[in-house]
Amino acid sequence: MRKGIGVSPGVAVGTAYCINEIFVNPDTKRLEKSEVLAELGRYDQARDRTAADLNALYQKVARQVGTEEAAIFRAHESILHDSAFTAKIRAWIVDECQTAPAALHRLLEEYTTLFTSTNDDYIKERLADVRDVVIRLSGHLSDVLKPQLGALREPLILVANELLPSQVVTLGKREVAGVVTETGGRTSHAAILARSRGIPAVSGVKGIQRQIKNGDLLVVDGREGHVLINPDPETTSAYLKLQREFFDLKDALAENRDQPAVTADGQSVELLANINSLSDAQAAVAMGASGVGLFRTEYIFLTHPDVPDEEQQLQVYREIIEASPNHQVTIRTLDLGGDKTIPYLGHAREANPFLGWRSIRLSFEHPEFFAKQIRAILRAAAKEPAYAKRVRILFPMITTLEEIRRVRTMVRKARQQLEAEGKPYGSVRIGFMLEVPAAAVSIDSLLAEVDFVSIGSNDLVQYLMAADRDNPKVSHLCQPLSPPVLRVLTNIIAACNAADTPVTLCGEMAGAPRAFVLLFGMGLRSFSMSPAFIPMIKDLTSHLTRKRAERILRRTLEIKTTAGIQRFMAAQIAEIAPNLKLLDSA
Ligand code: PEP
Ligand code: MG
Repeated sequence: MRKGIGVSPGVAVGTAYCINEIFVNPDTKRLEKSEVLAELGRYDQARDRTAADLNALYQKVARQVGTEEAAIFRAHESILHDSAFTAKIRAWIVDECQTAPAALHRLLEEYTTLFTSTNDDYIKERLADVRDVVIRLSGHLSDVLKPQLGALREPLILVANELLPSQVVTLGKREVAGVVTETGGRTSHAAILARSRGIPAVSGVKGIQRQIKNGDLLVVDGREGHVLINPDPETTSAYLKLQREFFDLKDALAENRDQPAVTADGQSVELLANINSLSDAQAAVAMGASGVGLFRTEYIFLTHPDVPDEEQQLQVYREIIEASPNHQVTIRTLDLGGDKTIPYLGHAREANPFLGWRSIRLSFEHPEFFAKQIRAILRAAAKEPAYAKRVRILFPMITTLEEIRRVRTMVRKARQQLEAEGKPYGSVRIGFMLEVPAAAVSIDSLLAEVDFVSIGSNDLVQYLMAADRDNPKVSHLCQPLSPPVLRVLTNIIAACNAADTPVTLCGEMAGAPRAFVLLFGMGLRSFSMSPAFIPMIKDLTSHLTRKRAERILRRTLEIKTTAGIQRFMAAQIAEIAPNLKLLDSA
């Protein structure tokens, strides 16, 4: 058994599929002499396809963002055609009868050793470029891996370093029951993707990729953060039983989808969904959300083969608004950087990416590109008069008042432009993500400038605790249920309520039973979470009263440690809703 961090609750049993197999466990097969020529041909074909991809990317990015931003793809093309690079690969295939993926793996190892021994940041960055090229190349080579995937028995458990959105897309309709990753924490990509599909997941399991091979039997326990590799038959059947209970509980809870979310003493709460895609919007409807509280638009960009232009974005936003519950959608502008990057918007490796050039800061640096997104959102809100009030625009990572004023000016200009062009647009409400401690401190002055606020607790907690949200080594610090975080949240919610500014919390804690009770006790009435959690939180709501939640909060605020709060809240949940035991975790 290996231990990691449980990042999406529930239990899954399935067959391991190691996404990065060729990088971690290189192909050791030796070619027959008679196969060498065909292998060279296979490599050349993959190289030509990669070159065509890079060229298409260059053209599109140059047209839509700028030639400077597109230059990175020319650099990648020159790595691809670099004579030393090609000569080595060909030599290993011909002289040593290695397969093309094995030769690529060896090349990457060689460059890694060479480049990391230097202190020169510029050279280190080039390593990232080489890696990108190798990944692209092996993507084309990996057509040979697909039959291997086809041979694995479903359901699958994905095993990866960190799960990229593009990898999830390529899995298509394969049944995925669980996810295990080496890196990342509760709020990283893999966790968010797994949660949005209600799939149990464990992150931060160091070295796991070397211990697992395709086809191994795996158990993922997302509550405890455990991964079992090839367990004995008794253990397997015990977990299969738990898995069935997990499914039954989810099915039973999902029956409340058409009921309103109200407490036992008649207080209404708004349960909204966090979505990344159209299928998530459909899941939001199926789970009984009353709207979408956070549409993370970066996934459109991260999964698009090149750059989505204004018309393509408009199309996506329209489809999402159409498909979402009550056509109520809060669309967040691009929130890239930190752990999510796209090469054409800046590739510089920073010493502190989460404190650097990310999110709204990056959007400001590409004003034309940013303006297109704002225009597409305004236009998407125009389709039906009723949409206008239900579509909201949300700006991430706002730190200062100047930034709010700047985005407001951009929205105003976008409206004027659309007016002049005779293009219809809707009047969307403007809000910001409260996720930087500085904004929490100066909340009063910021509230005066916006229509609503959304608390991004994932980032707020990492910044407040100075503990990277994706680094398993400091996950004991990056805890929402810690005394300082609860204090800050109490103040923010009180300030918003006093100013009569609508406030939602859309970080992961909104869908966690223990945190939900405390937030409700603080006076929060709007929550946005992965669709999969809505039935459970609705059920919990029905067992709660305002008085009880306020009393629990008061007692919790007196507890001095995170461990103490967790213990206390676990006992409270067991008392309020014992039926949710399988889904409650720290
Ligand atoms: C957050 O920071 O809490 C949030 C909801 O946004 P993201 O997880 O996308 O940073
Ligand atoms: Mg955030």
